[in-house]
Amino acid sequence: MDWSDFPRENVKCTLCGRDKPEVLSIQRGWPVARCGHCGFIYLSSRPVESALEEMYSREYYESADVGYGGYVGNFHKYNSIFTKLFNRRAHDIEPYRGQGRLLEVGCAHGFLLDHLKKRQWKVKGLEVSPLAAKYAIDELGLDVYCGKLEDADYEDDSFDIVLLLDVLEHLHRPFETLKEIGRVLAPEGVLVVQCPWELTHWEERAEAFLKKMKPCTITPDAVPAHLYFFDPDTLEAFMKKGGFSTFKRQSGNYGAIRRHIKPVPVDVGPFYERCARFFYFRMGFQQLLYRSARIIGKGNGLIRYARYEQ
Ligand SMILES: [Zn+2]
Repeated sequence: MDWSDFPRENVKCTLCGRDKPEVLSIQRGWPVARCGHCGFIYLSSRPVESALEEMYSREYYESADVGYGGYVGNFHKYNSIFTKLFNRRAHDIEPYRGQGRLLEVGCAHGFLLDHLKKRQWKVKGLEVSPLAAKYAIDELGLDVYCGKLEDADYEDDSFDIVLLLDVLEHLHRPFETLKEIGRVLAPEGVLVVQCPWELTHWEERAEAFLKKMKPCTITPDAVPAHLYFFDPDTLEAFMKKGGFSTFKRQSGNYGAIRRHIKPVPVDVGPFYERCARFFYFRMGFQQLLYRSARIIGKGNGLIRYARYEQ
């Protein structure tokens, strides 16, 4: 599939609304730009919403290129890793239980919801991919709405927790979604957002330095499905603009499962680079660094807990 082929639209900075894009790099034909006013990094020209929606509804979960190729097969094959991550998630959200009503926006095949349901959460899910939603409903027996949050018609104060995991960076109208989440959340309800930290993360800065590339020009993940490239500051500003006040910050490990399934190749470049790659990727050095980074809040996944203020 040619990802540069979508009909496109030019957009202003989603965070501050100014039109001062400074292009950092072109990725798959799409300009990754930093806002000259507020520093937010985004695709200044992006696929129109309907084009991406169609892609999510058809190929996203099958394409190994940008989406979740072979997701169901991988879930079963690497079940112990998924279970470990799901247990960690369950443990993290237990303190905000309330009446135990949980909504996952962008629940894919519903594996996390299924896990939480077995831990006595009352779960519901939303998913735009009919293929993934059908699996969640038919195979796992979950209450999943196939479509967008705005169309799901949930009543006010329906949920104690809303999970928005690896979704925000995909949304054309993120503030409408955040507002709707605020409406369906109970007054003391909690939104958990998770996004990748791309381009300005230490590992990518180091990689750019070693490759003698300009900072922030390493290829980010999933362009043009990812429209925004957050860092800790811009994510928090983004949430604030959406009416949410962050009260807890956690660090995650973005891409952990994928790295396991498809290890980074080491057989690349001249001899010294192969040696360095082998040492870093295969001898556990990257894993050690990642673990340490997560503990001090510098992991490449940004997890934020927030309450609606408006
Ligand atoms: Zn801006």
